[in-house]
Amino acid sequence: MSVSERVVHLAFLPSAGIGHLNPCLRIAALFLRYGCKVTLITPKPTVSLAESNLISRFCSSFPHQVTRTDLNLIPLDPTTVNTSDPFWLQFETIRRSVHLLAPILSSLSTPLSAFIYDVSLISPLIPVTEKLTCPSYIYFTSSARMLSFFAHLSVLAAPNQGAHPSSFIGDDIKIPGIASPIPRSSVPTVLLQPNSLFESIFMEDSANLAKLNGVFINSFEELEGEALAALNEGKVAKGLPPVYGVGPLMACEFEEVDQGGQRGGCMRSILEWLDEQSETSVVYVCFGNRTATRREQIKDMALGLVECGYSFLWVVKLKRVDKEDEEGLEEVLGSELSSKVKEKGVVVKEFVDQVEILGHPSVGGFLSHGGWNSVTETVWKGVPCLSWPQ
Ligand code: UDP
Repeated sequence: MSVSERVVHLAFLPSAGIGHLNPCLRIAALFLRYGCKVTLITPKPTVSLAESNLISRFCSSFPHQVTRTDLNLIPLDPTTVNTSDPFWLQFETIRRSVHLLAPILSSLSTPLSAFIYDVSLISPLIPVTEKLTCPSYIYFTSSARMLSFFAHLSVLAAPNQGAHPSSFIGDDIKIPGIASPIPRSSVPTVLLQPNSLFESIFMEDSANLAKLNGVFINSFEELEGEALAALNEGKVAKGLPPVYGVGPLMACEFEEVDQGGQRGGCMRSILEWLDEQSETSVVYVCFGNRTATRREQIKDMALGLVECGYSFLWVVKLKRVDKEDEEGLEEVLGSELSSKVKEKGVVVKEFVDQVEILGHPSVGGFLSHGGWNSVTETVWKGVPCLSWPQ
């Protein structure tokens, strides 16, 4: 086979949570449509059931183009990490296990054309990717504005060696090339907590962005033209690699969740119920896949939804990790409020097909926690969104 005929072979490495896995697999699917071959390196075990289900569906949808290779993670001593969030713990577990990648990558039967990995793994992967003969890219899981902030952080940190961002981030952050400053209140609170895991990852990785060959991001010109231009014109930080806006990344066929067959999924009954509602009459409520709603908030939300005068479809999460989420809504709300809720709307605890729901004509509004995937999905489907950051 001549070099020009050589198959393009990409290796993908996702990190924890559906919000990180979805963009990874959706970008992989873009390449698969062009006939590329993909090796999906899956950190094992996954945190949630939703992740392991999605990985299985992805691999079985492309049996001839996708090869799955497990990265068996080295268990982490949780006392050595300053977080109890299972998804953040997994980020760190993967970061500490990436040295195991070298033999995996060197044993691939087809030479790699590129290696594409999650934003949360930048610094630990540099020694690994430096030994590869192919370029390496990350996929960034939030907005281009957030990427600008992430990249500019190392510029802000430079004159403040060793200081915590909480001390050198002022009332707002002005990023060159971006007209509206970012107020301190919009900075993730975990970044302002000295010695948090998030702070250490953010600080370490911001300085290493320049070592990448490129960044894929789920954004697009019409939505974030200013931030994408500022990043690509070298205004935000010197030496940044090209940033490719490949969004909006929309759900692919392999993401279709069970429609209510033998496994008892809830999508069929949701769609039947939506079909019976009038156009744009339903409020859809979902706070992503890794955010547990606090008990007091659940009650407030239930009261608000009952009083709002609209029908609603409410995806409730009481625990961050789906396999631990066993408590019923009635136990939290009490039977009286719980039956009022069920009279006026539909409540589910299962993983739903969000993009399909947002695309249903009966859905007229989305109450979201503001996760970036959800934001791009609702923008693309044209559903007005009320964001309630958690
Ligand atoms: N999602 C879904 N069904 C659910 C919950 C979430 O399909 O029941 C999808 C949603 O469409 C989005 C992703 O999971 O693509 C969540 O990502 P986001 O960035 O919105 O939030 P995160 O879960 O990372 O906080």
